[in-house]
Amino acid sequence: MPDVAAPRPPVAPRPSSAERWCGGGCPGSVALAARYPQTTNAAGENGTRLHGLAATALNGGERIYGAEDAKVVDPYVADVFREHWGRPGSELRIEKGAQWALNPLLKGTPDAVLLDPANKLLIIWDLKTGWRLIEAMMNWQLICYAIMLCPPQWTIELRIAQPLPYHPDGSIRSWALNWAQLMQLAMRVDAAVKEAMAPGAVLRPGKHCLYCDALTGCVAARDVSLGAVEYAAGEPVELPDEHIGRELEVLRETVKILELRMGALEESTAAKLRAGAQIPGVAMREGKGGKTKWAVDEKAARSTIHLLTGKDPAVPHLPTPTQLKNAGVSEAMLRPLTKYQPGKMVVSTDVDDRAKKIFGSEPNMEHIK
Ligand code: SF4
Repeated sequence: MPDVAAPRPPVAPRPSSAERWCGGGCPGSVALAARYPQTTNAAGENGTRLHGLAATALNGGERIYGAEDAKVVDPYVADVFREHWGRPGSELRIEKGAQWALNPLLKGTPDAVLLDPANKLLIIWDLKTGWRLIEAMMNWQLICYAIMLCPPQWTIELRIAQPLPYHPDGSIRSWALNWAQLMQLAMRVDAAVKEAMAPGAVLRPGKHCLYCDALTGCVAARDVSLGAVEYAAGEPVELPDEHIGRELEVLRETVKILELRMGALEESTAAKLRAGAQIPGVAMREGKGGKTKWAVDEKAARSTIHLLTGKDPAVPHLPTPTQLKNAGVSEAMLRPLTKYQPGKMVVSTDVDDRAKKIFGSEPNMEHIK
């Protein structure tokens, strides 16, 4: 949930968002996103923390972290050290800023870089701490770092270290390329930087809108979603078989774009409401997931209920408060022993409330009278 506003850096294409502005993505996103508050979220903050732990370990510091953090940090640290220790004379750089000499607008900070002059080999790592699978091959973020750092005629290996999600190629994935291939890609990056920095750079919505800071207010993304709604709500037609696959693809892409916009809008609205803003027709309400739990330890709950009802409720295990209530134990008797843990708060609109009256837990049969 993006809810923390961080200071906004100056307008410049960053390697970390290169998947968005490079390689046929959205050139206009560089300038547009710079007009919105830079947001982060719990997963992002956790990622920053894990990167800090990894950098400390790679710089020879103490490894003070638990087993859960170790699952993410250790495979990456081990891979970097294995390469460094196995390559005498190699130079290891951890989180050192870099800039592209050809186009100084492009700068960034790779997680780890190894320069091995004996073998004319450059290895660049990017640690990914999330669950969304990221590939090493044609990874524009790593390509940007490579064009900043690679000495002429060296070979390059780009590595993604992503220990959490399963990937058939393992948690450390590599892509090797030679100097000539890198130069071809450098021309594309140069063209993309120039396109992104040109006045009126085109906005091109797509999957890359995910995590774009401009998503809540982007007119192009909004037009796509409204156009998609219009398309999806159009008169149904009997599709020839050869068009069904394409139609499904279009509808699935449409749903993805709508979900992205809806998620971004809900998050920014929740942040405003939490900060005390009044937004007509919109409020926070409790979502699903609320439950009644034992407020006392289970032994105490069991013996109290046994005492009051004359029956031992723990056969074979102590049921949940809700199960006991459903089995006829009075709510008044359970109340002192339980507490209600509310569900997550969600953004709710008038439309949700009207829909709830028709379809939800407060039946209103007006509509079928
Ligand atoms: S939301 Fe999508 S279309 Fe709009 S600027 Fe961001 S990437 Fe481009």
